[in-house]
Amino acid sequence: MIPYGRHSIDDDDIAAVAGVLRSDWLTTGPAVAGFEQAVAGYLDVPHAVAVNTGTAALHAAMAVLGIGPGDEVIVPCLTFVATANAAVFQGARPVFADIDPATLLIDPRDVARRVTPRTKAIVGVDYAGQPCDWRALRAIAEPHEIPLVADGCHALGARRDGIAVGRLADLTALSFHPVKHITTAEGGMLIALDPAHDRKARAFRSHGIDTDWRERAEKGTFSYAMTSLGWNYRLPDVNCALGTSQMKKLDRWLARRRAIAAIYDQAFAGANAFTPLATERGVEHAYHLYVIRLDASYGAVGRAEMHARLRARGIGANVHYPVVHLHPFYRERFATAPGLCPAGEQAADLILTLPLHQGMSDTEVAQVIDAVLAETRARAA
Ligand SMILES: *Cc1c(COP(=O)(O)O)cnc(C)c1O
Repeated sequence: MIPYGRHSIDDDDIAAVAGVLRSDWLTTGPAVAGFEQAVAGYLDVPHAVAVNTGTAALHAAMAVLGIGPGDEVIVPCLTFVATANAAVFQGARPVFADIDPATLLIDPRDVARRVTPRTKAIVGVDYAGQPCDWRALRAIAEPHEIPLVADGCHALGARRDGIAVGRLADLTALSFHPVKHITTAEGGMLIALDPAHDRKARAFRSHGIDTDWRERAEKGTFSYAMTSLGWNYRLPDVNCALGTSQMKKLDRWLARRRAIAAIYDQAFAGANAFTPLATERGVEHAYHLYVIRLDASYGAVGRAEMHARLRARGIGANVHYPVVHLHPFYRERFATAPGLCPAGEQAADLILTLPLHQGMSDTEVAQVIDAVLAETRARAA
């Protein structure tokens, strides 16, 4: 089976991890700042706070913005559940906005309709690796002084109008899960532009305590103060060393992902049973995912059959994602129901993610293309 996503690990990565295992610091050591500097330097951002998952980065974003009970957070309906869960962790209500059917990015016009005096953040997901229309979102948010949060878990290395993901929103969450662009096994990072957000995020990832164990050890002091409520969301040095080593390969891997996407685009141009997602002008896509949308005639049943047929041919197609507001938890907790986000609900029944990762060979890419074209033609016939 050709998986839809997969990590790549080489001997340099293994040596970097082994080096930390032989050192004094398995966690809260120097490899953490090293990884933060590698990512911040790459993105040219002032602050990067390593945490143990992308989900923790999203949670930290909600916490540093002071989001709590009674607040509303606008999120797209078509995303991984963690995007919305982060608001729920803080006791806030996620308000689901619909998506643009061509790109599956949050639709700024629908966001504008859902803003209320209780809106405390707008979260956009840079879906598949394509940054949202942050300029349009900024225009909606600014008059109300609503901060913008990017779920950039798909989009490390992407740009829009020349601006890198990390600088497009006030806060940006990244994930280093193995299917993402680079991996630390589990891991994430919160990118902040404001130094106050950076300070709060550093406390939040470590119980709300103002110093870490190594700082106290180096100063020879035992005293510390807990000044806010935090969690243990620290990313160990073992994982950070892997991340720093992986960052060295990011540009090469992005280029390979883009090259594979270009081959798919060319092969699928003019296909009549499906369309690849659209890329908007000014976007430098990071291609975490390559997603096609089947014609409406397939319906949810036809999509499930296509998924099964592709898998039977060894193509690990997948679906990203079912809409969040129709998960049982959300229906029960927030009384969400079908019809809330019609474009997202329709798209969620028709999309398929095709294999795309830096380790794919040209032969595998050709196998995917042959299988997709053969199966869609067979159904049309
Ligand atoms: C991967 C991902 C997350 C969560 O990241 P983890 O590191 O798995 O916690 C959140 N949002 C989106 C859109 C993702 O793809």
